Amino acid sequence: MSAPNPSLRKTIGGKPALPRRFTVEHALILVLVVLVAAHSVHFVLPYETLSTMVTAQSLAQLEMASTALIIIIAGAIYALMSERLKTHRVINEELRLKHNTDLVSGAAMRGHFLDDLKRTVASHRKSGSVALVIIDIDHLKQINDALGHGAGDDVLGFCARIARQAFPGASVGRLGGDELAVFFSSDDVIPERYVTDACSAYLATLREGLFIANRRQAVSASLGVALAPGHTDNANDLLSFADLALQQAKRGGRGAWSVFSPEILADARQERFIERELRAAILLGQLTVHYQPIMDTDGSLNSLEALVRWHNPVRGAISPAEFIPVAEKSRLIHELGLYVLKQVCDDLETLPDVSVNVNISAWQLAHDTFLRDYVDVLKRKNVPPSRVVLEITESAMLDTSDDFVDRMADIKRAGFRIALDDFGMGYSEFNQLRKLPFDIIKIDKSYIQNIGTDVVTDTFVSAVTQIAGKMDRTVVAEGIETQDDRLRAAVAGCRLFQGYFHQAPASRDRIVALYSAKALTDAA
Ligand code: C2E
Ligand code: CA
Ligand code: CA
Repeated sequence: MSAPNPSLRKTIGGKPALPRRFTVEHALILVLVVLVAAHSVHFVLPYETLSTMVTAQSLAQLEMASTALIIIIAGAIYALMSERLKTHRVINEELRLKHNTDLVSGAAMRGHFLDDLKRTVASHRKSGSVALVIIDIDHLKQINDALGHGAGDDVLGFCARIARQAFPGASVGRLGGDELAVFFSSDDVIPERYVTDACSAYLATLREGLFIANRRQAVSASLGVALAPGHTDNANDLLSFADLALQQAKRGGRGAWSVFSPEILADARQERFIERELRAAILLGQLTVHYQPIMDTDGSLNSLEALVRWHNPVRGAISPAEFIPVAEKSRLIHELGLYVLKQVCDDLETLPDVSVNVNISAWQLAHDTFLRDYVDVLKRKNVPPSRVVLEITESAMLDTSDDFVDRMADIKRAGFRIALDDFGMGYSEFNQLRKLPFDIIKIDKSYIQNIGTDVVTDTFVSAVTQIAGKMDRTVVAEGIETQDDRLRAAVAGCRLFQGYFHQAPASRDRIVALYSAKALTDAA
């Protein structure tokens, strides 16, 4: 913790923090000493000498007057001293608070907050309970980048202020850049419902937002909740449990809360297992690649999508839906992507002569050497980039910043084609279809399987195919499972089809057996 600001020592709240050199107390003490000395003079001088100076009567009067004065002055000194002490106590408390308070948010500093939390959890071990909520402010970095750090500070201050309202009596602390936390205790058991209602109220008030430069700025946050002793009676565990709950809230879409449960802990252990095993599988070359055909309207093979497969010796087949998010989080995704690309390049020699779609994740695009590494692999394997389509999921496309558009333009310049995967699942707006330079739109299976059952889906799919037609882009209908799906997708304007109806993903050898030129002539 940093040293207190020296100016704080001089004046705090307008009051002098250090006594001046010669104070009223000093003057009064001096007078008191003189009086006591005068009062005690008859103990020193013989009575004969005194009686020559004053009469006995006036001596008695003098004694009474000086006694009264001594009592009054001693009382005044006592009152002044205790007032001074009080002021000092207030000053010390203010200093302590300033020392432990984050100036931006007004919340307690991390160390101080955690010390308090530890003390409170320990004192509620036998009776009562403590609730901890970690608050992660969504997109604070973007607010800082777009509106300046002053705006980011305002948002932090706003979030801390609303936390004090939504969780009355709670201690509010700042854990890090965009993370706040609150805890509160009770002599009774705190019902989970009470905490989650407060979380909902908190998020609702944040959504109302604050004014920055005369414009309303809505704020959202993700919240993770853990309770002591309900979930644990140890403050460190309480903190990591609330953090696990927070990660879950973030995964489920931001602007939400989540309460810790033992299943979350099991998931986290499972995730660590997957990460460790996946790292080994990449090193040992244990992943394989399957291919799923994408068919033309006339039923011929248009292209193939490469889909990674993992058979773990302990757990058996693990779905990409389970391990791809772990790979993305642990940054293994770039190595996994290169692994799949190398495998695809090797398989191209035997596969039917069509292009192959390779999935890439948003994390890879952000990787500095992404494009260079992909181009290097193709060069080494002697494969032209025109043979490869990079499928990027729509969520990654959210970002239409110039930087992102430039990155995509670089990918196109290098000779790859780009497909927008799972279209309709994220937040892309139609104008993003225009702004980003991709060649293929893949409409997500949830839409394809609902064509003909609701108006919104039908209108959406038709609008996508029309816009794509005007912009010379191809539309693929994903998840075609039945003849009906296929017919309805075709009526809606889709020209390419992918799904179990045609063929489930299969090994390279199976695809060769089904679709190679030789297999097709044999079949004819
Ligand atoms: P995706 O890119 O949308 O891939 C299509 C998924 O739909 C595949 O699941 C495929 O098996 C499945 N599918 C195909 N036809 C049908 C159908 O008719 N009905 C239904 N219900 N599903 C169908 P898979 O192989 O489990 O892959 C899941 C996701 O994992 C992929 O979704 C993709 O996002 C990701 N993924 C797979 N391989 C890779 C990879 O090499 N790199 C990266 N970054 N992601 C990958
Ligand atoms: Ca895909
Ligand atoms: Ca897809």
